[in-house]
Amino acid sequence: MSQPRVLVIGGGLAGLSATMRLAELGVNVDLVSLVPVKRSHSVCAQGGINSVNSLTRQQGDNEWKHFDDTVYGGDFLQHQPPVKEMADWGPRIVDLMDRLGVPFNRTPEGFRDQRRFGGTLFKRTAFAGATTGQQLLYSLDEQVRRWEVEGKVKKWEFWDFLEPVLDDGGRCRGAICQDLVTMQFRAFPADAVIIATGGCGLIYGRSTMSMVCTGSAVSRAYRAGAWYGNGEFIQVHPTAIPGADKLRLMSESARGEGGRVWVPKKPHDPRDPRTIPEAERSYFLEERYPKYGNLVPRDIATREIFDICTNEGLSVEKDRLCVYLDLTHVPRETLDRKLGGILEIYEKFQGVDPRVVPMKIFPAVHYSMGGLWVDYQKSSTGGLVEGSPRNQQTNIPGLYAIGECDYQYHGANRLGANSLLSCIFSGLFCAPGVIAGFDGGGKKAAEESSRLFESGLRREEERHHALLARTAGDENPYDLHQQLGNLMTRVATVVRRNEQLAAAYAEVCSLEERWGRCAVSDSGNWTNQNVVFTKSLGDMFPLAKLILKGALQRDECRGAHYKPDFAMPGLQATDPAEKRREAEQWCDRFEANTQRWLKSTVAKCGAGGEPEISYEDVDTSLTPPRPRLYGLVGGEMIEEVWNERQKKARVGEGQAQQPAYAGSAS
Ligand SMILES: Cc1cc2nc3c(=O)[nH]c(=O)nc-3n(C[C@H](O)[C@H](O)[C@H](O)COP(=O)(O)OP(=O)(O)OC[C@H]3O[C@@H](n4cnc5c(N)ncnc54)[C@H](O)[C@@H]3O)c2cc1C
Repeated sequence: MSQPRVLVIGGGLAGLSATMRLAELGVNVDLVSLVPVKRSHSVCAQGGINSVNSLTRQQGDNEWKHFDDTVYGGDFLQHQPPVKEMADWGPRIVDLMDRLGVPFNRTPEGFRDQRRFGGTLFKRTAFAGATTGQQLLYSLDEQVRRWEVEGKVKKWEFWDFLEPVLDDGGRCRGAICQDLVTMQFRAFPADAVIIATGGCGLIYGRSTMSMVCTGSAVSRAYRAGAWYGNGEFIQVHPTAIPGADKLRLMSESARGEGGRVWVPKKPHDPRDPRTIPEAERSYFLEERYPKYGNLVPRDIATREIFDICTNEGLSVEKDRLCVYLDLTHVPRETLDRKLGGILEIYEKFQGVDPRVVPMKIFPAVHYSMGGLWVDYQKSSTGGLVEGSPRNQQTNIPGLYAIGECDYQYHGANRLGANSLLSCIFSGLFCAPGVIAGFDGGGKKAAEESSRLFESGLRREEERHHALLARTAGDENPYDLHQQLGNLMTRVATVVRRNEQLAAAYAEVCSLEERWGRCAVSDSGNWTNQNVVFTKSLGDMFPLAKLILKGALQRDECRGAHYKPDFAMPGLQATDPAEKRREAEQWCDRFEANTQRWLKSTVAKCGAGGEPEISYEDVDTSLTPPRPRLYGLVGGEMIEEVWNERQKKARVGEGQAQQPAYAGSAS
């Protein structure tokens, strides 16, 4: 390796942004991807990308409010400096993508059109119809191709990342990957390795994520010693199209463009929904959350839909859980112009035109807030130090993680349209720091590659051939995967209970043990999908275990992690004095819970592959945690009590002049 070289694993929005930026900064990049980069899961993103913009600024919005909505929506579980930096970069990132040719929707005056997404009252979301991810991905792909032609980037599509290579000092010096066509192995020496391999939804079997979102790369890094943060925080999206093969998303943009969620008041009302009068419908999100309506944060909307179907028995269908998502009141022309991409998906898979008939939807696993633990360096202004090698670096020096596979930006619940921003931001922002972190050892490692890389190559080859030879086992990997998915969906999604989580952990251990007896049906050594899938299934168990253990140990409700046994319901009293007393008690409990649980879960892969869990304090230096009230009954009283306490605390600290927080409780 005569010149510095970085290995980027993953060619979604995060990986392509990092690759583009590194190449611009003069560094050579090897870009490895399981699928052609244009087929990365980012291509499926529908609704849009968030940033403060000139329209929202006129309404009083600013970067601080975007930051604040993000941490409030995430239940304060994310370190605040990276989130602040990301919100500050938002407008520049959307401008950049516009200049790179993304065909964002425009208003008749030629300005970028904006829509509202969940968890905010501002229209911060720029969009390209309902195929925003595809347009962003293709624009970045064009840029990376430009650098490919210049010779700065070399793409390795249909390659599988198998393990990072660490030197004796524990620093990452490259990786071992496998060509999925010839099945040959290759060592990639590098000055730094960036993992940008997206989410791990396949652990849940059916989800809205693509079929390559197995989490295999992250699991391999985890087993090599990288820590994993906040694994138990898995987002279940409120609106997906139930399907036998997979669950297809019906983007939040449908509600952003006026879509209304409702159920008939009569259980399983057999009438055509169009003939059910308004008075006989329950628009339960609008009724319970008058301020945010259909655009409450996802964790809340999901729980409400789940609750109305399972506890209140108001599912639209008797034998299948679902509610209506209604766009039929929106003009057809608007729907085609702004939501064409997703409405076509519904029509194609359900055979019903959602412009005419309300859609039937139900929540589905969608996003992983957790991911590889990464570091950051805080600046004196509360954001990040640009160019610091600590930014996005895992606990393994020289190994970085960006995009959905890091744990950094979304805390306990991600706000819609913030992921595309965090992917592009983390990719662009980490590049100068990655370069600053070069220690010159990569070149030396390449020269001494025989010792460092050959043992990795040998290990992976042996593992592969041992699996190929397993033609006589009594277990079927696809069957085991289905069992794992069903189990995880049952116990570790919307509602979680300790006894079920504990039992599920034991069951996952047993599935993992059975995986050791899997037979592969294809023993050929050419484009063998069967062996690749079996390997990635094996990698799902360590992540499933850390999700379950993290969830089991976290005895509270925070964002997407909801345990009814630890819920803090709203106030019940109607008498003002009694209500006040209840609000005081509620705030006492909130304070105690914050003290105990406002911390990130950090999983380390222990001996025998069992997760060892520890906790890390969260940096809340920019805005203190406060009750996440949204539509909670008695929220106004709780907010009043809370603000009084905060004011008193500030007086105690000699900061009486600061205004009390005017929260976003509805
Ligand atoms: C249906 C859907 C719609 C969405 N819509 C929105 C939206 O409108 N707005 C928003 O903000 N967010 C949205 N999201 C979330 C968002 O799309 C993702 O979080 C984001 O695209 C992830 O990008 P990424 O670059 O981190 O990873 P990905 O785009 O998933 O890319 C991962 C890359 O890693 C590669 N890879 C994986 N494993 C390996 C391996 N073992 N070896 C080599 N390469 C590997 C893959 O080939 C791929 O190139 C949506 C999500 C879904 C499921």
